[in-house]
Order: sequence, then structure tokens, then C-alpha cells
Amino acid sequence: MQANEDSLAELLAGRYPDACGRFGPFGGRYVPETLMPALERLEAGVRAHLHAADFRAELDRELRDWVGRPTALTHARGLSERWGAEVWLKREDLAHTGAHKINNALGQALLARRLGVSRVIAETGAGQHGVASAAACARVGLSCRVYMGAIDMERQAPNVDRIRRLGADVVPVESGDRTLRAAIDEALRDWVADPEGTYYLLGSVVGPHPYPYLVRELQRVIGDEARQQIEERAGRLPDVIFACVGGGSNAIGLFHAFLGADDVAIFGVEAGGRGLRLGDNAATLATGRPGVLHGCYTMLLHDADGQVQETHSISAGLDYPGVGPEHAFLQMTGRVSYVTASDEDALEALNECCSAEGILPALESAHALAGARSWAREHAGSSLLIGLSGRGDKDMPTLAAHRTRARDAAA
Ligand SMILES: *Cc1c(COP(=O)(O)O)cnc(C)c1O
Repeated sequence: MQANEDSLAELLAGRYPDACGRFGPFGGRYVPETLMPALERLEAGVRAHLHAADFRAELDRELRDWVGRPTALTHARGLSERWGAEVWLKREDLAHTGAHKINNALGQALLARRLGVSRVIAETGAGQHGVASAAACARVGLSCRVYMGAIDMERQAPNVDRIRRLGADVVPVESGDRTLRAAIDEALRDWVADPEGTYYLLGSVVGPHPYPYLVRELQRVIGDEARQQIEERAGRLPDVIFACVGGGSNAIGLFHAFLGADDVAIFGVEAGGRGLRLGDNAATLATGRPGVLHGCYTMLLHDADGQVQETHSISAGLDYPGVGPEHAFLQMTGRVSYVTASDEDALEALNECCSAEGILPALESAHALAGARSWAREHAGSSLLIGLSGRGDKDMPTLAAHRTRARDAAA
């Protein structure tokens, strides 16, 4: 226990990631030798620019004028009444392109320009990070190529059109599992081929150092704003905060401002899918074991032979067999608890949020709502802050297909 408290104190003191890019045992840089110089160059660029006054000024201006920050903090009156609690929503659904992903994409696009690179590559699964990257590159004046698994391109056709309309080219990935995992592999391969002329814009707090740190620093604006807003409006900090966890970027972004506030309980909600058997969910922290994926030592969903497994979630954005190393670390220290919400829980929470608040949340965000709702049932009268990571318009086809399936099953 003491060791874990010491580890958390080290994190709060800013000593993680350490010089090797580790959060305790997690993180690091497990990549081919050919990629090391590119990662070292990126790390030096991050150190030189990310917290420099002129870069921050440019980023803050663009976050305000183009992304639309600060995003609102909404007092959710309808949910508060239903749950017997005080519920606050941090509205990343109101950010440009409809989710928190733009905070990261814009920040990295500006960084790429500072580093003198004009060609950006990105990976995308459901297409949301591809859209954010294409939009940010158009704004900043960079060319953008997005790798996307061939299966995902079929499943997410409207996002493929959006990415192309925003001026990026989309490259189908036919190798491996032909989904997000293969798209990341392909993007890394592209980067190895031209490490000096290319910037790899990674979409979450995953991958080799310095990405988990870089993306966290770009997403922590969520929690910094929310903490200030809730202190002003409620006059105190919430009792508990909730966010959904795929790779973990919106969650880390919300959590960071509250990690040192001992009285605030923190929960990450993973995709429990159809159940907790391997293959039926994307609940990496709740059910996984440590291993290496995409250049990083972290918790993973793999079988006894170390084969990374396919995941399932109704929400494409949570469907990833790994998770950011800082989450694995926060779980180890006990500071953050990780729970699951099933597909059905998320659908129910999504419907409730629509009718009680007039907000259609993303299916990803609905997992955070579902986790919060079951906690509120057992803690009457408490105050909850929930990260609403994105809007649900993109999920309309999934919701329609689910309704059809449910009707067929009933018939
Ligand atoms: C992509 C996405 C997520 C999952 O990504 P994280 O890195 O875990 O935040 C969550 N919510 C929405 C709306 C997304 O688009």
C-alpha cells in the first residue's frame, strides 16, 4: 500500500513519465531501432515547444476561436432528479467535430508545423480521429493521410467521406485484422519509411513514449476547465468523477486536475460489451493482463499464448485491446477505479440522457453515464461530474441497427 501511495506522489510531483517514458512499470518504448531517432526527435520537439509561451498562446487562441473552448459545464437537472444526486456534465460534445479528439489533433498539428514537417499521417478506427486530424491539418495547412482498416471503412462509410471532404486521403489497410490495430501498424510502417519528413499524429494516450504524455498534456484542458467551472458554479469539488475509457485520452484529460484532490473519487468506465469473457468486451483494465502492444508495455486483452484478441463493444471508439499506460499505473496505485458498463447499460443510459437532458451523447460517453448512474443509486445525494466525451449523431446507424435486431429477436 505504502509503495502505491509513494508512486502516486511521484506522479503528482511530475516525475512520471520518467526518463525512459515509464509510469512505474508501464509505458516505455518498444519499437524497432529504425523508429528510435524519430521518437527522440519528437520528444525533443515536445520538450522545446509544448509548454513554451508562444506555442501555448497560439494553441489557446485556436482552441478558443476554432474549437469553441471552453466547452460548457451543464447542470443536468433531469438526470439529477431521476438519480437523486447532483449531476454535472462536461460537454466535449460541443467541441468542433463533436468530441474531445480535436483538442489532441489540433495541438499535434500545430506541433508538426513548428517542427517544420508538412506531411502528417494518422490512424483511425471508427473514423472520429481521422475526421479530427483531417480538420486540424486543413486548418493548420498540412497534408494529411489517414490509415483505416478496410473493415472499418465499410462500417464507417460516412466518416470516410467526411475525412476526404476535409482534404485528407484515406488509405485502406488490408493487412492483419483490417481494423484499428492493423491501421496503427501500417501508420508506424509509413513513419519508419520517412521518419524525418513525416509527423505521426497518434489519436489517444497510447503508443510509445512520448505519445501518452503528449496526448495527456493536450487533453488535460478538459479537467482544468471543468474543475474551475464546477468550483465557481457549485462552490465545491464533486464527490466523484466518471469518464469512459477506450485508449483513455478523454478520461486522463478529465482526471488529471482532480488526482491530487483526495476527497474526489475517480472512476474510469470500460466497455463491458456482451459479457466479461475474453472476446466479448473491451474491458482491458478490468479483465486484462500486462504485455506489449504498439510500442508500449501496458494492460492488454490477450490469450494465454500472448495473442492479442479481437474485442467487442457496441461503441466503436472503445473497441481497442490495449489502454494507455498511465491508466494501468493509476489502477495499480488504487487512485482510480475501473469498472465496466455493458452494451445494454450504455444504450439505456443514452436513451435516458436524450429524454432527460435533450442531449444525444456518443455511445462511448453513454458508458460513463451508465457507470455514474449505478454509483449514484448507492450514494444518494452526492455530487457527480461526468465527462461527456462526444455527441451521438455518428451513432445513429448503430442505434437503428440495434433497434431492428431487437425487434427481430422479439418477433
Ligand atoms: C474516440 C472516442 C472515445 C475513446 O477514446 P479515448 O482515447 O478513450 O478518449 C471516447 N468518446 C468519444 C466520443 C470518442 O470519439
